[in-house]
Amino acid sequence: MTRGRTRAAALLTVVLLGSCTSEVAGSATAAVPGADGYGDPYYPLDGNGGYDVESYALELRFDPESDTLEGTATVVATATQTLSAFNLDLVGLEVSSVTVDGEDAATDRDEGELTVTPALPLGEGDGFTTVVTYAGVPESLDDGLGDSGFLQTGDGALAVGQPDSAAAWFPVNDHPADAATVEVSIAVPEGLEAVSNGALLGSTTEDGWTTWRWAADQPMAPYLVTLAVGEFRLDEYEEGGIGYVDAVDPALDDQEAAGSETLGSTADAAFSRQPEVLAFLAEWFGPYPFDQAGGIVDDVPDMGFALETQTRPVYAPAFFTDAASAEAVVVHELAHQWAGDSVRVGAWQHIWLNEGFATYAEWLWAEEEGTSTAQEEFDRLAARPAGSSFWQIPIGDPGPDTDRLFSSAVYQRGAMTLHAVRTALGEDDFAELLQEWFGAEAGQAVTTEDFVALAEEVSGQDLDDLFAEWLGEGRPESLG
Ligand SMILES: [Zn+2]
Repeated sequence: MTRGRTRAAALLTVVLLGSCTSEVAGSATAAVPGADGYGDPYYPLDGNGGYDVESYALELRFDPESDTLEGTATVVATATQTLSAFNLDLVGLEVSSVTVDGEDAATDRDEGELTVTPALPLGEGDGFTTVVTYAGVPESLDDGLGDSGFLQTGDGALAVGQPDSAAAWFPVNDHPADAATVEVSIAVPEGLEAVSNGALLGSTTEDGWTTWRWAADQPMAPYLVTLAVGEFRLDEYEEGGIGYVDAVDPALDDQEAAGSETLGSTADAAFSRQPEVLAFLAEWFGPYPFDQAGGIVDDVPDMGFALETQTRPVYAPAFFTDAASAEAVVVHELAHQWAGDSVRVGAWQHIWLNEGFATYAEWLWAEEEGTSTAQEEFDRLAARPAGSSFWQIPIGDPGPDTDRLFSSAVYQRGAMTLHAVRTALGEDDFAELLQEWFGAEAGQAVTTEDFVALAEEVSGQDLDDLFAEWLGEGRPESLG
């Protein structure tokens, strides 16, 4: 994620701050309900316990006239314990029916939780398919980041947000530790586009409705699933074996940016450099983890952030007021495809691993472009006095408040931490660390401890003190 670019603020700041049946099945006495949360210390009710999702298939219809979403979600999962019942996360929206393996299931609702009680208990290791039919006007979320969640946009809607936006529009195990493949089929009024993650399989029009079909066949964290409905210029192309789809709201072609450009043309120019940026990042991080890419810019004036939605980040239009800001944010969100999407956080306290890498990628790109070096960026921030609030948040455990979780301290000190590791390891070991990290951990949910362990393994050094002072509270003493 990149914060802080509502359009009002954009002109004043350039600060860039993501079945088999087991023996107990059928024994009601042995089966117990799954937990109502995944167990994240920051967001205890995000996600759920007792199962692991393989795939979501969403068949949707969205009518911008009424803002009504109608959906059928097919969730294929495996029970990781005996289950008499299990939860899905779903905010608002009326559920009209739920089946498990084709049999009607009983349901209960409590705030953001949908409890499903199948006709027969599930055994540990059982694969099961849940189909939820639902409808309603999805809610936007107030998480301190400006508008996020499911936004009505005038000509359509935009689903985007962190840390937990998916439950605003489909029933889901809404925690990044449980990644799954996602297929989205969405009908919208003819003349509108609907854009999601992964590959565009095609679109068909019937009776005044156009159905757009998208498939992401590499697992993703639920908050990285996006949906943009409205008028878009779609640009489809392939380069370097990667399929691109860029979607820019044509309303931005009438809105001024720097240098006699428009927000739309500045977005186009930044997007045209994506293949070059991905090739550059691959030199540092290893091969691009996906086979699809691109970006989405919707005309949402109050949106204040960009997010690394998998394969196709969503950007607030205000980032495209000038070329430098545009390029930096595109580098940031594309770096997240490795750091945050392919290798994702196992719990939200480890967010510095996402934001530190994405910010460090901006520094590396600036060095490549000859604007500034990573060392200069590091030195500039290191000069901040010990009493500065910049040093007060322990970035290895910043707390659940999104103002802290997505603070500039987490981003910039996260990047500084990586630079300190680079200095301690030397160029060869640092390069090996990055390649190993994004190679061996691809598709995995990770923690800070995993990263420290790999850095120590690659370098043969004891790095406990380094990480303790960089990820803790206060200006590191080693800065002198
Ligand atoms: Zn970010």
